[in-house]
Amino acid sequence: MPELPEVETIRRQLAPHLEGRTILHAEILDPRWTRPIDPESVQSELTGARVNRVLRSGKYLVWELSGDRHLLMHLRMTGGLLFDPIADPLHTRVRLELDGGHRLLYVDPRRFGTGHLVSGSDARDAYLAARIGVEPMTPGFTAEHLRSLARGRTAPVKSFVLDQRRIAGVGNIYADEALFRAGIHPLRPAGRLSAGDWDRLRAAIEDALRAGIDAKGASIDDFRHLDGAQGSFQDRFLVHRRAGEPCVVCGRPIRKIVVGGRGTYVCESCQPRPRRTVRRPGR
Ligand SMILES: [Zn+2]
Repeated sequence: MPELPEVETIRRQLAPHLEGRTILHAEILDPRWTRPIDPESVQSELTGARVNRVLRSGKYLVWELSGDRHLLMHLRMTGGLLFDPIADPLHTRVRLELDGGHRLLYVDPRRFGTGHLVSGSDARDAYLAARIGVEPMTPGFTAEHLRSLARGRTAPVKSFVLDQRRIAGVGNIYADEALFRAGIHPLRPAGRLSAGDWDRLRAAIEDALRAGIDAKGASIDDFRHLDGAQGSFQDRFLVHRRAGEPCVVCGRPIRKIVVGGRGTYVCESCQPRPRRTVRRPGR
């Protein structure tokens, strides 16, 4: 699934092609994309709209359109965008004809991706606020804020980091990479991390995301660039998908465990397992 760096890569590639262009014709071939909104009404709203800016919020691509309308796209598992493709691939769900003779396709084999059109920036902000929490690499993303969100939580820190309503944009790859960089075991209860742990983890999340953006994302499954090319972050993973291979720091083998139902990669020498703590009454 595309995470923050993959969506940001798409955004950076998309913005120069799209900003200032007008959508001459919109064709939504899969009604599931706009559900529960009728695809025909979205189609007619998109037709003739000018794209002012292409932004990103967490894993959402946010198209700012003329008339204070906003298209919020989520790629989910297998969604992708292709600019000026030679042919329409199988699983094309949305076709946009742009001025200047350009075309943009939304392709999604598993059909979990969504396109939500809202009117007005208040409606846009409300939609996003209900779904995503603090955005890494913004001033609000502080160790203090993360620590206060985690206070009293007994869930594993990895599950906490993956919860989009708390931290926007971090998925399975970048959570593993960040926890390794911070030297924190993914099973440690989120509420038991110290202020120092949160300092390291906050910085590690941003470092891992930046490394992903620099490598133009990770193409371990369906993720492709606008021109169909692959990202290269999968070649730079420190722990993710490296089970049995030596840790880049200590040389001991990386282990695969399961945390909150997700395959998780860890060096249990660099990221010590939490000790079982026994609560003693009266203390
Ligand atoms: Zn290690």
